[in-house]
Amino acid sequence: MSAVQIDRAAVIGAGVMGAAIAGHLAGAGIRCLLLDVVPHQLLPDEERKGLTISHSAVRNRLAEQGKQRLVRMNPAPLYDARFIHRIETGNVEDDWERLSEMDWIIEAVVERLDVKQQLLSRLEQVWKPGTIVSSNTSGVSIQEMSKSCSPSFRQHFMGTHFFNPPRYMKLLEIIPGDMTDSSLVQDMKQFCEKRLGKGVVIAKDTPNFIANRIGTYGLMMTVQEMVSHGYTIEEVDAVTGPALGRPKSATFRTLDLVGLDTFLHVAGNVRDRALDESERRAFDIPELLQKMVDQGWLGEKSGSGFYQKV
Ligand code: NAD
Repeated sequence: MSAVQIDRAAVIGAGVMGAAIAGHLAGAGIRCLLLDVVPHQLLPDEERKGLTISHSAVRNRLAEQGKQRLVRMNPAPLYDARFIHRIETGNVEDDWERLSEMDWIIEAVVERLDVKQQLLSRLEQVWKPGTIVSSNTSGVSIQEMSKSCSPSFRQHFMGTHFFNPPRYMKLLEIIPGDMTDSSLVQDMKQFCEKRLGKGVVIAKDTPNFIANRIGTYGLMMTVQEMVSHGYTIEEVDAVTGPALGRPKSATFRTLDLVGLDTFLHVAGNVRDRALDESERRAFDIPELLQKMVDQGWLGEKSGSGFYQKV
């Protein structure tokens, strides 16, 4: 048995990863509160339709959409519909105080240091000593993210980096910050292995940790080199997917699944903290990816990326 007891968890950010992490926890028997921001741009529309802006269906729309995506994803649903009732949706305005009731809070908001820092500072106000807080960041520094929080908060804070999709990807990186309690790290490792079925690797707080550093570099090189040498997307994916014994994943399909905007943030994190010019250049954003993001082609979440959703 693991020394940490987690019955109630909250996931903040109901995008590609946040919703899927909530799905995975729900499948492991953990009740989850899934929060996202209030979609302000939708509120005036809803008011015109005769709803009040406090209507919870409107205010929880982003979190609810995340939850619904779990069962609608094709061809393989991201999570088993039988367990989805364990996920309750909400928004960060109305449900913020409820975070004090949680055993574990996971942030899975957009991959930007400033947004994550603000979120942690606000979170600290409702945080109850003992509650574990973790970030699903792909590579932002755990130390940097939490640097303005109190020592006791930081003792309970670490990175728990799930891979996409969490239902099928066994790997989980746990990243202690400079002040994280080392016995808590070991307890979480045990919990994630036993209860969540993960294969846990403890990583250092270096840019993009271990797996994404390798993965991001490979993907960047492939996009840049193969396309400029005249290979098609389908050709590259044919070689890097099933032919390699990876049933689904392939280079451009993976980029669409991850989200091109998120991928650019992840690559940018390494570039911004590069130790020298050659490392910085290796993580320069390929022009093609930047153009696609500027056009709103973000991959599966926006309906089009390298592939068009039909
Ligand atoms: P996403 O863009 O799909 O979703 C981000 C969500 O966060 C959105 O729904 C947005 O409305 C919400 N959000 C933004 N600011 C918020 C705030 N202040 N409070 C609450 N919600 C807020 O992003 P994603 O792909 O799910 O990535 C989330 C995190 O997980 C990032 O740190 C990313 O690097 C990491 N990650 C992503 C992948 C992947 O494959 N996409 C894999 C592993 C880790």
